[in-house]
Amino acid sequence: MSCLFCKIINKEIPSKIVYEDEHLFAFEDLNPQAPVHILFVPKKHISTSLDIQEEDNELIGRMFRAANKIAIEKGIAEKGFRTVMNCNSDAGQTVFHIHLHLLGGRVMQWPPG
Ligand code: AMP
Ligand code: ZN
Repeated sequence: MSCLFCKIINKEIPSKIVYEDEHLFAFEDLNPQAPVHILFVPKKHISTSLDIQEEDNELIGRMFRAANKIAIEKGIAEKGFRTVMNCNSDAGQTVFHIHLHLLGGRVMQWPPG
């Protein structure tokens, strides 16, 4: 499997791990766009959000709940944060293993660029 995030999950490529459980892996983004920028990745390889199946419903909920937990622990929950999943090229997806970006620690702009 040549997927970058599968290699990070398998610890073949190092990362700054923030959270791990049976289903999920979370690590600091290499090129942070905010003071807190963490990626939440399912251990199951799913290429884009278009590939999420009914059997993945619980997994997607787990991703958001893990992001909430870390947002609270990092002290950004009360002021606010953003969770984003980019899909395909127009949205800027560069790694084709789904990941939920958790961004916080600064005021966000809307609409996003
Ligand atoms: P996206 O553009 O939504 O596909 O997001 C991919 C994210 O992965 C970007 O924010 C990159 O900075 C991040 N990224 C790429 N390679 C690594 C890596 N080796 N470790 C941590 N984050 C990475
Ligand atoms: Zn993968």
